[in-house]
Amino acid sequence: MHLLLIGGGHASVALFERAAAWREHGIDITLVSDHPYLYYSGMVPEHLGGVYSEDEVQIDLKGWCQHTGVTWHQGRVVRMDPTARTATTAYGSTLPYDVAVVDIGAANPSPPKGTAQVTGTKPMHQIARLEAWLRTLPERTSQQHLVIAGGGAAGTELALNIQARIRRTAPRRCTVTVVEPAKRLIPSFPDGASQRVADLFSRQGGRLHTGARVQHRTPTHAVLDNGTRLPCTQLVWATGSVGPPLWQRTPFSCTDQGFVKVVDSLQIPSAPRVFAAGDCAAVDGYADLPRIGVHAVKQGPLLAENVDRMLRHLRDGKPPERAYHRDGLRAFRPYPVAPLILSTGTAKGLWRAGSVWWMRATALRMKHLIDLRWMNRYRLPHQSTWAPLDAVHARSAQQPA
Ligand SMILES: Cc1cc2nc3c(=O)[nH]c(=O)nc-3n(C[C@H](O)[C@H](O)[C@H](O)COP(=O)(O)OP(=O)(O)OC[C@H]3O[C@@H](n4cnc5c(N)ncnc54)[C@H](O)[C@@H]3O)c2cc1C
Repeated sequence: MHLLLIGGGHASVALFERAAAWREHGIDITLVSDHPYLYYSGMVPEHLGGVYSEDEVQIDLKGWCQHTGVTWHQGRVVRMDPTARTATTAYGSTLPYDVAVVDIGAANPSPPKGTAQVTGTKPMHQIARLEAWLRTLPERTSQQHLVIAGGGAAGTELALNIQARIRRTAPRRCTVTVVEPAKRLIPSFPDGASQRVADLFSRQGGRLHTGARVQHRTPTHAVLDNGTRLPCTQLVWATGSVGPPLWQRTPFSCTDQGFVKVVDSLQIPSAPRVFAAGDCAAVDGYADLPRIGVHAVKQGPLLAENVDRMLRHLRDGKPPERAYHRDGLRAFRPYPVAPLILSTGTAKGLWRAGSVWWMRATALRMKHLIDLRWMNRYRLPHQSTWAPLDAVHARSAQQPA
C-alpha cells in the first residue's frame, strides 16, 4: 500500500510522528514537495528582522524523510488523477497512491502584468530571496527601495520587522513602503490596533500608501492604480490567498476562491482516499475560516489519526467509501476564537482576538514560547543549534522600543 504526501505543509508534518509505525506495517510512504524545507510562517517575519536564523525557522522535510524511512521526491505536483490514483509533477513524474494527503498551502493572487520581478509569500520559501537581498544592503552604494503590496497581517508584520532590521544594519540605505487598498493598515484588526501599528511604522521611518493598489512594475518603479509612481528595487507580494493552481487541473469541487472542498474529516467527498488540509482546503461549514497557520497546525493530529484509520480500513480490505465522513473518522472543529500575535520589530508583540487587542512585551514572549515549542517537535536529533527561549527574548529585546 502506498501513502503519498503532497506538499508537507504545517498540517501534514504531524504525520512524520506516525511514519515509522506505518512503515512497520509495510506501507510505503513518499513525500513530494517543491522545496526540501518548510518555512514556519509564524517565525518568518522575525527571521527577516534578524531575530531568528534561517535554520531556526525551517523544518528539514528531506532530513525527516531520511530519519523516518519516507521516500523524498522533490517536485511540484501539477495534476492529480483520482481514477488512476496518481499525482503528476511539473517534470512529468507520475506518483501512484492508495491514500494521498495534500497540504500545499494557498497561492498569492496573481501579480498584474509587468510585475515578474516579485517575491511572493506563498509558497513561503521564496522569502529566501528577500533574505539574501537584505543581507547585501549594508554593502550597497545606491539607494534601495522595498515596496510591500498588501498591508494585511502578513504584509504589516513583514514591513515592521524588515524596517527594524534596516534601521539597525543599513540606516538610510533603503526605504520601506507598504501599499494597502483599504483605508488603513491591517483592516481586519480593530481600529485602535491598526492606528497603533501605523504610528509605530511611521515612527520607525516606514511609508504607507492606503486606498491604492500596486498595478504594475517598471524596472525602477511600482506604479499604483491612482497613478502614483513609487521608486522600487524590490517588490514583495503579500496580497492575500487564493486556491493553488493544482486544483484548477484536478477534477475536484472547489470554492469560488479556488480552495478544494473537504468534509470535516478532511476528505474530498468525490475521492475519499484523498485528504486535503491547511490553507489549500475549505472545510465544509468553515469555508470562511481565515487562512492562518493556527488552523493548519490544529488539523495536524486529526489528519494523522484519520489517515491512520483509513490505512487500517484499506488493509482490512474494506472499500474507502465506508471510512468517509463520520464513519469512524474524527471531525475537525476549529478553535472558537483563534488569537493572533504579531511581532512588531520591537520588544513588544501585538495580541489580538476578535475586538480585543493589546501591545505588550508579554505578548511577544508568549509568541516566542508557542513558536519554539511547536518547532522543537520537528527538530531532528542531530539539530542542536536552535536557540533557547531566553536567547530569543534577548535578541528581540535589542530592537528599538
Ligand atoms: C509573512 C506571513 C506571516 C504569517 N504569520 C502567521 C502567524 O504568525 N500565525 C498564523 O497562524 N499564520 C500565519 N501566516 C499564515 C500561514 O503562513 C499559513 O496559514 C500556513 O503556512 C498554512 O500552512 P499550510 O500547511 O496550509 O501550507 P504551507 O505552510 O504553505 O506549506 C505548503 C508546502 O507545500 C509546498 N508546495 C506548494 N505547492 C506545491 C505543489 N504543487 N507540489 C508540491 N509541493 C508544494 C510548499 O513548498 C510548502 O512546503 C503567515 C503568512 C505569511 C505570508
